Amino acid sequence: MTRIIAACNQKGGVGKTTTCVNLAAALAAMEKKTLLVDMDPQANSTQGLGFDIPFEEDIYDALLLPDSEVNPERIQKFLQKTSMAYLDLFPCSRSLAGLEVQLIQEEKRDRRLAHVLDTVKKNYDFILIDSPPSLNILTLNVLTAADSVLIPIQCEYYALQGLAELLNTIRLVQQSTNPHLAIEGALLTMYDSRLNLSKQVAEDVKNTFSEKVFKTIIPRSVKLSEAPSFGKPIILYDAISAGAVRYMELAKEVLNND
Ligand code: ATP
Ligand code: MG
Repeated sequence: MTRIIAACNQKGGVGKTTTCVNLAAALAAMEKKTLLVDMDPQANSTQGLGFDIPFEEDIYDALLLPDSEVNPERIQKFLQKTSMAYLDLFPCSRSLAGLEVQLIQEEKRDRRLAHVLDTVKKNYDFILIDSPPSLNILTLNVLTAADSVLIPIQCEYYALQGLAELLNTIRLVQQSTNPHLAIEGALLTMYDSRLNLSKQVAEDVKNTFSEKVFKTIIPRSVKLSEAPSFGKPIILYDAISAGAVRYMELAKEVLNND
């Protein structure tokens, strides 16, 4: 069974993209067929995997296809092979201008992504979705398409701010378009063991999410922030770095969560 996991947090710069790219690569390295779906107009996941933008057609074109054209052959054309055999990318490369307005005129506008992914999901063990730092129609599409949400939380001051709003949005989606949506877990990112603040945030997150916190903690690591500029996930950039080891551990934890 395919598992569709979305990284969501409307707070910016918390590690959604870093987690999507590196968890996807770690799962692919474990020979799990994985599709990374870039649903953020910033296109950081697309660039982080080494793709030059723009593409002639990207995920926004797919979301606006008429129902009659949403079929496996047509959607397959959007997907890009990456340098890893088990990893494909559904790229994004375009400004959001106009899309939200166009989608508002569509019927079932929250279900467009779910509909698109339904056509190709049988080819994958995992589909990971990167999302924008906002709670808009794109996020609603992401939450409607996903089986579970992974919430990256940066170990910084204000880390928990806005979380109530995110959890509320998840609840609303559970009550409407996606009753099966689960919380995969909260993931502590950019943890610095020398800082009391990091320890405090870790405590607070454990109190908020109780057992739904990943045991794996992602440390602050220069290598993790450098890898995207080489268009590589961390396991291809520096396989023995702390960041690479932790994202492999996270992949194992996700596999065991099944
Ligand atoms: P946005 O909300 O803009 O999409 P995001 O939540 O996707 O941001 P990232 O882009 O993954 O966040 O990370 C924000 C910045 O922090 C990036 O420059 C990234 O390289 C860096 N970064 C992410 N994780 C780590 C880490 N563990 N150690 C050091 N730097 C990191
Ligand atoms: Mg991002």
